[in-house]
Parts: sequence; structure tokens; C-alpha cells
Amino acid sequence: MNEIVCPNCGEDEYLKGDSKESRNAEKVTIICESCDIKWERDLTPRCPLCSSEDLRVAVRSIVDKSRGTQLSIQSLSVVYLCPDCDAEQLTLWNQSNTPLPPHELPYDID
Ligand SMILES: [Zn+2]
Ligand SMILES: [Zn+2]
Repeated sequence: MNEIVCPNCGEDEYLKGDSKESRNAEKVTIICESCDIKWERDLTPRCPLCSSEDLRVAVRSIVDKSRGTQLSIQSLSVVYLCPDCDAEQLTLWNQSNTPLPPHELPYDID
């Protein structure tokens, strides 16, 4: 539970988190300095559909379009997949081992 590892590169040392500052927070934001992704670590991840707590961590890419069409910053986001409800995505993740494609619309875990 206390072991924090970057889901993208496996880094466990060069991580920055705000867990110390947010005492009662249910989520902490972690930044991996190794591969430069940022994610919210849900301390009590739970499937919104079936309430399962047996979730798998995967990485999804997010495309933030900045001004104009030339520059787009790709960043990654950590998502929790339910083996039952998100089976398709989970299979994709396990097979490709690369970040899942972004949703068309901005996706909010909440
Ligand atoms: Zn990393
Ligand atoms: Zn589920």
C-alpha cells in the first residue's frame, strides 16, 4: 500500500508526491521525474460500476492541444481498470504495454 512505483517506467525513487502535505486526502498527486508523467494516486480506488476494489493500474495518454495546431503536448494519466467492467481496455493494456489511446472527450476519473 505504501509502495509507490511509477506505472509507466517502474521508477520508485525519483517520485514527487504531495502526500505529506495532504493529510486526509483520498488522492495524492505523484510526479515521476524519470519519465515526466503526473498522476493522481487514488488511495482507495474502486470501480464505479461494480464497486470492486481489485483494480489494475494502467496508463492512458492525454493529448492537450495548445494554441494552434502544431504543438500538442502529450502527457500521461494513470487510470484504474476493473477486470470485469473494463476487461476490453485491460486486455489492450496487457497486450500492448504502451499507454492506452486517449478518450475523445476529456476524461475525468471522478
Ligand atoms: Zn516514470
Ligand atoms: Zn467493475
